[in-house]
Amino acid sequence: MSIAVLGSTGSIGRQTLDVARQLHLPVQALTAGSNVAEMARQCREFRPSLAVMSTPELAEALAKQLQGLPIAILSGKAGLLAAATAADTVITAVVGMVGLEPTLAAIAAGKRIGLANKETLVCAGELVMAAAKETGAEIIPVDSEHSAIFQCLAGCRDRQQVKRLILTCSGGPFYGMTRDALAGVTRAHALRHPNWAMGAKITIDSATLMNKGLEVIEAMHLYAMPLEQVQVVIHRQSVIHSLVEFTDGAMLAQLGSPDMRLPIQLALTWPDRKPCPAPALDLLQCGPLTFDRPDMEAFPCLGLAMAAAKAGGTAGAVLSGANEVAVELFLQDRIGFSDISRLVEQALDDVPQTAGPNLAQILEADRLARQSVIAHAGG
Ligand code: NDP
Ligand code: MG
Repeated sequence: MSIAVLGSTGSIGRQTLDVARQLHLPVQALTAGSNVAEMARQCREFRPSLAVMSTPELAEALAKQLQGLPIAILSGKAGLLAAATAADTVITAVVGMVGLEPTLAAIAAGKRIGLANKETLVCAGELVMAAAKETGAEIIPVDSEHSAIFQCLAGCRDRQQVKRLILTCSGGPFYGMTRDALAGVTRAHALRHPNWAMGAKITIDSATLMNKGLEVIEAMHLYAMPLEQVQVVIHRQSVIHSLVEFTDGAMLAQLGSPDMRLPIQLALTWPDRKPCPAPALDLLQCGPLTFDRPDMEAFPCLGLAMAAAKAGGTAGAVLSGANEVAVELFLQDRIGFSDISRLVEQALDDVPQTAGPNLAQILEADRLARQSVIAHAGG
């Protein structure tokens, strides 16, 4: 089995290559945004046949560093699409909407997809799942909660026997704070996640709880569950990665140390399991496990995501596109923490909804959502 890694220079991408290194998997294609130095290092180690940077200028800079190596170098969307179909299995670890079209290309080619890029399902869940059904492409979630649910559902023959999916949520760095106190938190605070080391965007999403909202939508699409059957529970320790409750009241959970290499590896080896570089969980060391309700008042992004989930159609694309831009502005210190939810809510109000959207309508909703955020972000 060979692999392609989209977003190989990021948090999930690097951990995927760590797993590939341990399992001696051939790496066919790597893609990055702007980190030429890291991409050059990865290319020298893994010798893919294709390497992709986000722009022609960056591709040229990479080519200079890789002179003499038999590696084709491409850029932009065409490069991402080529990389997505270059191997048997593709790990989609780019961040944001840019992951959607390569995922669709991999699905069309009938590849196995280890799906880390959650924005793909949030923006276009119906389209993506329908396409996968048509081509038989396997989508195996990498997101730890969805991987947990995937594992808990492995022996379930009839989804009617599932009562609910329970997504656990660490609560992020601001657990227990009030909405007023949250208005003053800084970028540095928000980037300090208690349990997971991740890319900047998902770290901010974890602080606003938008991440859990996106995951609710992701779970609804992956497992064909209505919103009412997806519950979020705060679990500060991140030991239980998620649970499934069945009609008889039995609950199955998957536990493990908070290390993404475990779900990444499972997406590559499933249905087999192999020794993993992630540290084993020591039950005697993980202390009491606690559970709590999320505070929907202090963290409005979770409620906004649920409203978008209920609305369906293009609402997911609007939510996700608006959130991407708002998070970017927050990371640039141009808006405050509470502005993120305000701007996402405004975009959901501004952009007209379309039911059963095609790709063009989804891309348009995303564009309008981004425009709305820029228009209302203020000076
Ligand atoms: P990172 O920000 O660490 O990495 C993102 C990757 O995408 C980098 O390789 C980056 O390249 C590349 N990239 C960014 N923008 C573009 C672009 N416009 N075109 C092409 N490539 C681009 O993110 P994470 O690894 O944390 O997250 C990746 C995805 O996985 C997200 O959707 C996230 O929600 C999801 N996820 C992440 C988890 C985690 O633990 N990190 C857990 C569960 C899900 P470069 O750095 O070279 O610019
Ligand atoms: Mg997650």
